Amino acid sequence: MGGSELNPVTKHREFFGVPGALAMILVLPLVIPLLYFVSNETYCIHGVTVDIEAIKKQIPSTWTQLLGICFHKQSWVLYLSWFSAITALDLTLPGTRMKGTQLRDGTFLTYNINGTAVSSAVVAILAARVFLAKNYYVPELQFVYDHHLQLIAVSIIFSFAMAVAVYACSFVPLTHKNGLGTPERILSINGNSGNPIYDFFIGRELNPRIGAWDIKLFCELRPGLLLWIVIDLACIHHQYHQYGVVTDSILLVSALQAIYVLDCSFYEEGSLTMLDITTDGFGFMLSFGDLAWLPWTYSLQARFLSLPQNHVHLGWLNVLLILALSGLGFYVYNASNAQKSEFRQGRLDHMEYIETKTGTKLLCDGWWSKAQHINYLGDWLIAWAWCLTTGFRSPISYYYVVFVGGLLVHRQMRDDVKCSAKYGEQWEEYKRKVPYKIIPYVY
Ligand code: NDP
Repeated sequence: MGGSELNPVTKHREFFGVPGALAMILVLPLVIPLLYFVSNETYCIHGVTVDIEAIKKQIPSTWTQLLGICFHKQSWVLYLSWFSAITALDLTLPGTRMKGTQLRDGTFLTYNINGTAVSSAVVAILAARVFLAKNYYVPELQFVYDHHLQLIAVSIIFSFAMAVAVYACSFVPLTHKNGLGTPERILSINGNSGNPIYDFFIGRELNPRIGAWDIKLFCELRPGLLLWIVIDLACIHHQYHQYGVVTDSILLVSALQAIYVLDCSFYEEGSLTMLDITTDGFGFMLSFGDLAWLPWTYSLQARFLSLPQNHVHLGWLNVLLILALSGLGFYVYNASNAQKSEFRQGRLDHMEYIETKTGTKLLCDGWWSKAQHINYLGDWLIAWAWCLTTGFRSPISYYYVVFVGGLLVHRQMRDDVKCSAKYGEQWEEYKRKVPYKIIPYVY
């Protein structure tokens, strides 16, 4: 597979190249059910000892059992109905037309930014469903709780199918001309190595679209993120109907996570400058991450807290302390992202910056003088706040803080490689001015 002026061959391979990509395609889908096996009504890890037998008993031992989980009819119907409904809302609800970053052919993509409308509609429908139901009992929510494993399997298979489809379509020429007057699709700068396994994993086409509908932005911000709210709600619903209580811990973590998700939807335009949108192709990594990994693993704290042995009662003081930590994290996260976004829109030109050879400016003032990715610190503080709601009964409920910490450090390294290649000496100058990567004076 060759390169072209528009799509140079990818030389630098991330994630340890082909073996790393293959390992992640094979192993990551097994981690989601594994996290479920160690945190459900049958068995939940307490302390640091793991009961291997209790896990083994839950693993399907025959093909019939496995196929029964993977192709559970009602779970497929529910998942496909969910995905279609969110797609329909996304395609029909009005929004603001916004330009993305400039592409390599000199053109700009236009996005319909309607996250506020879509997420408000979903929240309104959910609220109406709960409050109009007799005794607040919603069968669909109970189904989500009772069929966690089947729905996990459906999400994984669906995300695989999506990744295969976009990979195959990346080889089909465009029906219109690109900015250079050819029918060539714009591939990700990272996803044109020519190795099918690597390109499938990392994402080959930069912005797969059906007409003007952007599949990558949709998957990034809609079905998986909003499903996360539904899963949290299903956990509260289960706790209430099964045990007759709703603990302050499960309410707090679900509320904080809902705020995080809705913030992503309400400030959707901020996502247009994210690494995932500007640089990464849409392949297995993002499809699986957005549609399967995110909703089913990020909701682990709520599932953990829904189990009878983990009914944590925080009390007002702990609630206030967690709210304060979350508020601090949110403030750092939001203020820094907003400052970069406003600066890039040309509204903060009085601040100190470095002019680069590409014409783009690097802000080295305000939040962006504290650390190269001060926004990641905010995200990590938020992660701590969520995990602290689960108390100290088991390390498993701290999975998120470890995972997201690793993810953000890895992202910082990937971004460093990207910005070094893009800005050269000016990026080195920025790093001299702002030496800390994520945590001021520490890292
Ligand atoms: P950033 O928002 O930090 O974007 C990095 C890009 O911003 C760089 O590639 C560069 O792009 C530009 N940039 C870097 N430094 C500067 C500067 N000093 N001035 C102006 N522009 C600069 O990273 P992400 O896209 O990774 O993350 C966005 C948000 O999403 C973060 O808050 C992160 O925490 C969150 N996130 C959360 C995840 C989760 O699972 N919880 C996962 C991923 C992200 P350019 O080429 O335009 O110069």
